[in-house]
Amino acid sequence: MTYEECARCGKRITESEIRYVVRLTVVGDDGGVLDEINDPDIEIEKLIEQIESADPFELESDVMEERVFVLCPGCKKAFLKSPFGYRNGGFTDDDEYIGPMQ
Ligand SMILES: [Zn+2]
Repeated sequence: MTYEECARCGKRITESEIRYVVRLTVVGDDGGVLDEINDPDIEIEKLIEQIESADPFELESDVMEERVFVLCPGCKKAFLKSPFGYRNGGFTDDDEYIGPMQ
């Protein structure tokens, strides 16, 4: 029998059980306001230097990252109630603390 594990609590979710998929896309946003460009050639040169000296993996993760998580029903409910657990540092279920965020 194959199974997946809940990304939050580690519970085994078998093929016959319902699972929930959380897809996260984190996109960098520098504010979207462009400074006035005095000399486009100099600005392009600076940008090329920055790109050439950057680590490709780091550069890519600075722009956008995607993650996919599988959750069990209990953790799906807790996740939707408080995706980042920002109130008390962890997920809650009907005002009951059920564990720290991973
Ligand atoms: Zn779970």
